This record gives sequence, C-alpha cells and structure tokens, in this order.
Amino acid sequence: MTQEISTTLDVGTTAEMTNFSTLGLHPSVLAAITAVGYEEPSPIQTKSIPLIMAGHDMIGQAQTGTGKTAAFALPILSRIDASRREAQVLVLAPTRELALQVATAFESFAAQMPSVNVVAIYGGAPMGPQLKAIRNGAQVIVATPGRLVDHLSRNGGLLSTVKFLVLDEADEMLKLGFMDDLEVIFNAMPDERQTVLFSATLPASIRGIAEKHLRNPQHVKIASKTQTVARIEQAHLMVHADQKINAVLRLLEVEDFDAMIGFVRTKQATLDIAAALEAKGYKVAALNGDIAQNQRERVIDSLKDGRLNIVIATDVAARGLDVPRITHVFNIDMPYDPESYVHRIGRTGRAGRDGRALLLVTPRERRMLQVIERVTGQKVAEISLPDAKVILQARIRRLTQDLAPRVKDKENKNPELLAHLTTELNCSVEDLALALLAKTTEGQAFTLAGVEREQPVLAPRSRDDRAERGSRPARDGGRDSGSRERREPLALSEGKVRCRTALGTRDGIAARNLLGAILNEGGLTRDAIGRIQIRESFSLVELPEEGLERLLGKLKDTRVGGKALKLRRYRED
Ligand code: AMP
Repeated sequence: MTQEISTTLDVGTTAEMTNFSTLGLHPSVLAAITAVGYEEPSPIQTKSIPLIMAGHDMIGQAQTGTGKTAAFALPILSRIDASRREAQVLVLAPTRELALQVATAFESFAAQMPSVNVVAIYGGAPMGPQLKAIRNGAQVIVATPGRLVDHLSRNGGLLSTVKFLVLDEADEMLKLGFMDDLEVIFNAMPDERQTVLFSATLPASIRGIAEKHLRNPQHVKIASKTQTVARIEQAHLMVHADQKINAVLRLLEVEDFDAMIGFVRTKQATLDIAAALEAKGYKVAALNGDIAQNQRERVIDSLKDGRLNIVIATDVAARGLDVPRITHVFNIDMPYDPESYVHRIGRTGRAGRDGRALLLVTPRERRMLQVIERVTGQKVAEISLPDAKVILQARIRRLTQDLAPRVKDKENKNPELLAHLTTELNCSVEDLALALLAKTTEGQAFTLAGVEREQPVLAPRSRDDRAERGSRPARDGGRDSGSRERREPLALSEGKVRCRTALGTRDGIAARNLLGAILNEGGLTRDAIGRIQIRESFSLVELPEEGLERLLGKLKDTRVGGKALKLRRYRED
C-alpha cells in the first residue's frame, strides 16, 4: 500500500454553511446529533464526513476542539452493519482518558442504535470484562495500543472482522512510544479496510505510516490563513470543563462590560449558562437555532437598547448579529478554528471602540489556543480566576460608581423623608444609612468572608479532560462498555503502588506532563502506569510494584515543567 498522499482540502470556515442532514448520515445518527444539541457541522466535520461516507482513506490534520471525534464517529457509525454482532470499528487513542472520551462520544452518537455496542480497552483495568465485551459482539472497539497488543497476544484473530480503523491523535501515540505496537496492530488487521488518521501535526513518522498503511488518502486540514484582529484586548483562562459556569460567573464580576455576547457550542449550553446568569440577576437571554426568528429579533433589539446586557449564543444563532454596544465577547466554549475565533471576537470593537475578548481553555484545548495565537499573530494573555478579594473590590467599586452620581445629585433628595424615618425609627442617620446599604446589597456579600462563602471550591480534578465531550450518559447501563468502567471508583490496580510527587496544578502540571516524563525517562509502556491524580500541591501516580526501586532510581533526576519530579512511594496511613 504505497501510494502518494493526495489531494489537500483546506477547510474554509464561516463562509460555507452545511447542515448535518445534507451529509448522507444514517437517520439514527442524525437523530442522536439532534439530541446532543449540535446545530451545524464544524469545518473539519463538513469536509471529513462526505469523504469517510464515500469510503476514502483520510488524513485529518486537526486537534482537540475542532470536533474531530464526531468527524470520524458519525460517518463510521452510519456505515457499520448494526445487525452483525462483531467488531467492525477500531479506534486507537494514545491515552486511557482519550479512549474513554471517544468511547463515550461513540455511545452518545449511537444512542438511537440499540444494537450497537462500544467497548473501551485500556490498561490498568482487568482484561476479562474487556475481552468478554469484544466476544459479546461489541461493534466498536476504542483502545490504547499497549493494552490492545496484550489482547492480541492472547487472541490474534480479535480484529479479523474490523472494517474501519481510526488512529486518533496519531502524533501523540508516536510520542508515547507506541510505534511498535501500531505495527503489530496493523499486521493483525484485514487489508480490506478503511483507515482514517487524525493528527494535530504531520511529522515524517506520521507521513511514513500514512504511506505504508493508508490507500490514496484524502488530506483534510483546517486552513489557517493569517488573520488580523484589531483593537481587541484578548485574554484566556485555563479551566476544567465542568467548572466553566463558575468561571463565567466570577469573571463577569470583575469585567467592566456594557454588553456581552457569550459563545457556546450547543443549544443546551446556551440555556444552561443563560439560566445560571439570570439566577445571579443578569439581564441575559439565550440564542440558539431553536429560537423563532421573531423572538431572535426581539432578543437582538433588547441587547441593542440595553434591556438585555448578555446574550449566550451558538455560532449559528449569532450569525449576522451586529450590536455596537457589545464591549465583550466571551468564548465560553472554544471555537472550532482560528477563523471562527476571529469572526466571533469581531463582534466587539465595533465603531472604533475598544473591545475585549475572553476565552476559556480546557487543558486538552491548549494546542488550539496556540494555533489561534499563531494564526492571529497575537498573544492571548493568560488571566487567573479572580479570587474573593478581587471580587469584593469589584463589587465595592461598582457600588461606589452607582452611588457617586446620586450623592452629588442635588435634586432628587428628600430631607423630609430622612427626618421622618430617623424619628420614626429612633435611629441616627448613620444607622439608617447602614440599613439602606444592607437593603441595596441584599443577596450579595460585601465582606471577604461572605464572598468566600459564596464561591464553590474549585477542586483541581484528577483527570485533566474528563467531562469535555458534550456527551450523554451511557444509554444501556453500560454493560461492559467503557462508560461503566469510567464511573466505577478505581481501586489501586493489581501489582501497582502509589507514588507521590510534590508537583501539582499550582506548578502547572497536568496528567499528560507526568505521564510523558515517566514514560520517556522510565522506559515504561503506557499500560504499566495506572491512575494519575493531580492535586493542587501534589500528585499521585500508580506504578508497578515490581522493579519500583529501580524505576524511581531512573527517575531520580527527572524534571517536569522545569521542576524536580522527586517521585517517592506513598503510604496512605
Ligand atoms: P473534539 O475536537 O472531538 O475533542 O470535540 C470538542 C468538543 O466539541 C466536544 O465537546 C464535542 O462534543 C463538541 N462538538 C463537536 N462537534 C460539534 C458540533 N458540530 N456542534 C457542537 N459541538 C460539537
């Protein structure tokens, strides 16, 4: 299979409008997309879906955040034979986290296909249930290469019925040292198959794999024309997906905005965020594709004249929205590509005014941020979550601004009423002022302790990317599917012990950094490493008990993020 990599299709963005229903997807898949709340395909989906539907091999150059999972999952699910209870799809992913996410995404897109089953195969969990799920006829296998090779060594015919192979985050798989495992897997696959490779970068090693194992692949990538972004101050905040609403609430406290448009990806998110903001007293509305045209116009008019200050919208619903009052664009969900980012933030800074653009970035979307910075030629400054002190200062500043003109205003004063109230209540002017302050600030704390009490604790999470997919819970109670394993608390795996490092989130460490360092310097395979838990001031990693001292010796001088790893065995008692 040595053919040249052929045509390159650059994915243009906002100009083209496609609808999911025009892409030839299976009706059950279309119904699931509607249920998940996607309104329109992302650029990478618009290009990839027809190619995969037409049976082409494909190389997709796209990173997390572009919608790449759905770009391959939707057409593949549309093409499998759900009546055959045998493995038909194999997706290879570099890490357990990604394998679980992809499995969950497949499950949500197959929600209307009751006979389709999905199994996630990864290290650190018992092999028995995984094998059983394959034997029971799961059509979709999502696996990390290391563990799949273990299965193949016991049952070489496991993949003999697979017709679709996806290599997801291929560059990451090679970085993690899975090259040899990939070769074993290719050799265990039928030649007659369709292969799709997704990778953020295309180094020579990936091109080599493509030349050897893909047939006349079509090449799809996100075009990244340089874009100009004028007069817009840009900032980003790193946040976990499930902490977004809280982050939005806190940032709005300290941002001085006139009107704001917040962008999210799904209809449900427009409703959830608008509801959370409304509960805090903001004048906000949701705009999504389900909202009737006349209602949409009412919302836009209200934003123009100040009856509303915030609109939370999907890209589709915000098309053509042009309101000069908008001072802030808030990218609550990452746009699919830099062009769409530039398009979104162009909603502010109108009429020669300065604008501000905020962006929430989940750990897995870091790379997308880098692409945006590269394409726009501008840095998007990192900001941190405002703490209670900053929020309190902002509240006091706003209250002061609000009261200043009233204090100066000579006309609208009522000294008779003041005299009447102080007499009636038998109190001083100061007591009365304090009572009135308490009344006007009702529902909002104005002391440090009070503001602290209001804020939910943002616990750093152990997995760096869990809740990122907008997917639904497993539809069938899980059976042997990945989603069930994902919900179970993970006890210490057999033969593993916990080790601790004093590096944590406050040192800018994510699970991926620790994993990379331990794999590279410790010479382990991915499956040798169990669960990684990242806390604020320390992290725990499950490592094999056998040979632990030798391994810790090898890692003695390892540095992560510029700091000494100093991994030690951790005893819980
Ligand atoms: P991915 O690039 O596959 O990691 O996807 C990133 C996120 O985008 C996930 O939360 C998906 O659920 C979401 N997503 C993917 N495609 C769409 C779409 N067409 N509309 C809305 N959200 C999407």
